[in-house]
Amino acid sequence: MTKLDIITLPDKKLRLVSDPVETVDDDVRRFLDEMLETMYEAPGIGLAAIQVGVPRRIVVCDVAKREDEDADPDPMFLINPEILSSSDERVVREEGCLSIPDYFADVERPDEVRVRYLDRDGKRQEIDAKGVLATCLQHEIDHLNGKLFIDYLSKLRRDMVIRKFTKQAKQTPAKTTV
Ligand code: ZN
Repeated sequence: MTKLDIITLPDKKLRLVSDPVETVDDDVRRFLDEMLETMYEAPGIGLAAIQVGVPRRIVVCDVAKREDEDADPDPMFLINPEILSSSDERVVREEGCLSIPDYFADVERPDEVRVRYLDRDGKRQEIDAKGVLATCLQHEIDHLNGKLFIDYLSKLRRDMVIRKFTKQAKQTPAKTTV
């Protein structure tokens, strides 16, 4: 299984709006498996295709371990996910992002969302997500629209984070392929 490279801030691709997937075929399923493997290894609880540089509306997530460390894996594959409705009730949770390593901040979002998507067989599904899953799905769907969780912070804090990562990127020599 190929592990994919995760792109990080300030990579401009993170701001792209991803394109819908037209057909859920074996290529898409193989890509889903590679994304899941990459996410587990990182480790993270959610990953959007654009985070591995692919601007397509594809998300994988698994929040099982976040809620119970001994839980078995419970991966979800979401193609063309969209939020149909959000609860009025909002909740603040600490978020992080594999594309913004080692930075965490509180973000306020709706506590529950109803999400429609295609599963890995191309079948249309709808779920009512609550808790960590709701936060995770909103965070990942934002990625498909070029939005990052730091966009919810004050401009001052967001600029600080972007500056820090831009400086780091300049100091780190370009990756050499071995
Ligand atoms: Zn993220």
